[in-house]
Amino acid sequence: MSLLEITGLRASYGRVEVLHDIDLAVEEGRIVAVLGANGAGKTSLLRAICSTLSTSGERRFGGADLAGRSPAHIARLGIGHVPEGRGTFADFTVEENLRLGAISRPRALAAEIQRDLDLIHETFPILREFSKRQAGALSGGQAQMLAIARALLARPRLLLVDEPSLGLAPLTTNELFGRFVELRDAWSLTILLAEQNARLSLKVADRAVLLSRGRIVHEGATDDPETVAALQGIYLGGDAESSQSTSEGTA
Ligand code: ATP
Repeated sequence: MSLLEITGLRASYGRVEVLHDIDLAVEEGRIVAVLGANGAGKTSLLRAICSTLSTSGERRFGGADLAGRSPAHIARLGIGHVPEGRGTFADFTVEENLRLGAISRPRALAAEIQRDLDLIHETFPILREFSKRQAGALSGGQAQMLAIARALLARPRLLLVDEPSLGLAPLTTNELFGRFVELRDAWSLTILLAEQNARLSLKVADRAVLLSRGRIVHEGATDDPETVAALQGIYLGGDAESSQSTSEGTA
């Protein structure tokens, strides 16, 4: 059984349907890149999985039916969401933001949470160094690390990460992407990574899901030449705006 199983998923903003008949199975322990041009539906897919968007169709996580579950319930079931724009609290310190991440684990012992904080600090030492600094004073890369770290403190099994490269310098993006495999292994995670930066995503992901206009147009291993060809097809065949914004994107 896959960790996440989606069948016939449709999602809409008001009356406008933006995801059409999505079927997707994500195996435990995988890093899956969700790729596509601007407006392809990447953000909407992540939002639909955790019920922050109105959906129909079937969504199962670890065998549990997600239909009718609130985003908070879904988070407690083990799906962490790092939204585009990060969603950390700018006025709170780094440490306060991290501790807020653990709020969905009321039964966790203080020692368990401290162990997780130590693990976070091993991976992102800068978050220890800046623990008393306000989150709003962090650089873009540090803020993204904080957002991911905060989501990890909830101990998710599946982490949805939306466009982590947004607004980051290329070097910072490289460094951040280099951590995803390490994070997957250290935290026993499955990761769904929605990204415009296809080149880097293909390096860290095992599989890629290519979206175009709200539909999956290809799903396959990242080292499969067919995946690379499909990706080039999307970007070369896409609209001018998306080709420009993904100029470093194709493999
Ligand atoms: P980007 O990389 O630009 O974030 P994306 O692949 O994540 O793009 P989505 O943001 O999921 O794409 O957008 C999918 C479709 O949904 C687009 O047609 C977009 O215009 C529409 N859309 C997104 N957000 C809203 C919203 N809040 N209200 C109405 N339509 C929306």
